[in-house]
Amino acid sequence: DNPIQRKPGWIRVKAPTSQEYNETRNLMRGLKLNTVCEEAACPNIGECWKHKHATFMILGAVCTRGCAFCNVGTGRPDQLDPHEPDNVAEAVAQLKLSHVVVTSVDRDDLEDGGAEHFARTIRAIRAASPDTTIEILTPDFQKKKGAVEVVVEAKPDVFNHNLETAPRLYPTIRPGARYFTSLQLLARVKELDPSMFTKSGVMVGLGETREEVGQVMDDLRAADVDFMTIGQYLQPTPKHAAVDRFVTPEEFQSYATLGRGKGFLMVASTPLTRSSYHAGADFAMLREA
Ligand code: SF4
Ligand code: SF4
Repeated sequence: DNPIQRKPGWIRVKAPTSQEYNETRNLMRGLKLNTVCEEAACPNIGECWKHKHATFMILGAVCTRGCAFCNVGTGRPDQLDPHEPDNVAEAVAQLKLSHVVVTSVDRDDLEDGGAEHFARTIRAIRAASPDTTIEILTPDFQKKKGAVEVVVEAKPDVFNHNLETAPRLYPTIRPGARYFTSLQLLARVKELDPSMFTKSGVMVGLGETREEVGQVMDDLRAADVDFMTIGQYLQPTPKHAAVDRFVTPEEFQSYATLGRGKGFLMVASTPLTRSSYHAGADFAMLREA
């Protein structure tokens, strides 16, 4: 255990041991599907999979970018699996999900950044499980022409794209991405469909200041984003960016208060908050808000 990275008591993670965990894993293997729960080494996997809440990761398991916080493999990407949209839909139906989160690796190599594949996946889930609400967590599509439009036309219920951190930290934490490209993507979604919920999130504990988190909130509100998530960054392996500090539960609470004051319909802010953590329950509340 590296003493600098030793986790405080409020970050408690149970080992994934349940029967449901094994069933979820077998289902994913059987349908050749990837989950961000596994690929990102998410600390909540034991809890989420016990309830059969899994976040699908489409467009392959290899990302064309290499963010300093992310455990997903990078390099030459896989060939697109044309059966993936139907297989995701099949898994959603088998897991009887009332709300599903679909994310992906970045595919800067594809002409549309994978937008059509996202849209196909949304349509396949809709056809197989019409009552399931669909949340997508997309790459920035690097301003690829028409990409956002194709995805919005498929009518997901929630369009999520994470800013991840304060703009000052982009060169070290999110190289290859541009803060304003991400903000513009979120603004564009609302412009195309004002009835679609938009969502974004950051990790804290990477060296950002409270003022910078406040600035990110203001920028997101200016882009009309409805829902913000804030969680503690955890270093997946020693090769990844180090944790600058562990933000206390009280500070997380105070970020939630700050964000609500700025007009978000919802702010989820706890140490173990992730984009897709409790996303179904949060979406139900968001619709009420
Ligand atoms: Fe998967 Fe999201 Fe749960 Fe993590 S929080 S295990 S990524 S569903
Ligand atoms: Fe990970 Fe997404 Fe960055 Fe790729 S673009 S390295 S999947 S965070």
